[in-house]
Amino acid sequence: MTNKRCSKCGEVKELEFFYRNPLGLHGRHSVCIACQCVGHRAYRKAHSAEEVARAIKWRTENPERYALNRLRLHMLSRCFNTKDPSYSSYGARGITVCERWVRTAQFFADDMGPRPPGMTIERKDNDGPYSPDNCVWATMREQSNNRRSNLILVHDGKRMNVAQWATHTGIGRKTLIARVNTLGWSLRDALTIQPKKRRAA
Ligand SMILES: [Zn+2]
Repeated sequence: MTNKRCSKCGEVKELEFFYRNPLGLHGRHSVCIACQCVGHRAYRKAHSAEEVARAIKWRTENPERYALNRLRLHMLSRCFNTKDPSYSSYGARGITVCERWVRTAQFFADDMGPRPPGMTIERKDNDGPYSPDNCVWATMREQSNNRRSNLILVHDGKRMNVAQWATHTGIGRKTLIARVNTLGWSLRDALTIQPKKRRAA
């Protein structure tokens, strides 16, 4: 059975305890239902009834823009919030968000344009920042393909797939994929550290 860690309370719970969200990991929100309810209650407490009503109205009328804003907040959290469960794969690896996108959601929306249905944000250079020239809308399928065999790695000014990098560096293709996908190595290490030669028997 799949469980998921709530990005707010940190508890690991079954998927039923998270609202559905096609963009989220396992198709669920990153925050559990309990935390979301507390968040809503806190929001209601801190804002007047009119403000709450206005926010709900805006959200209902602009569902796409609301989703885009949330996507931006998740991106910021992965890169800057050390308590985010994904921080180790982003912020800790030196992945940042460009200054424009940190500043306002409007800049982010202007630069990326509306999100095509079913697509999510992808960084072309896996070691590069979230920025206009490094980001495109991609389907989840394209993304997972990239993570597997068609993995394109951009390093040292060269853009090649894993097989080409394997030929170029002399490091095995499977080793490269494992280093990048499973072991979480930085691109530089994965492509420059030669595996230890097995001693001949
Ligand atoms: Zn929670």
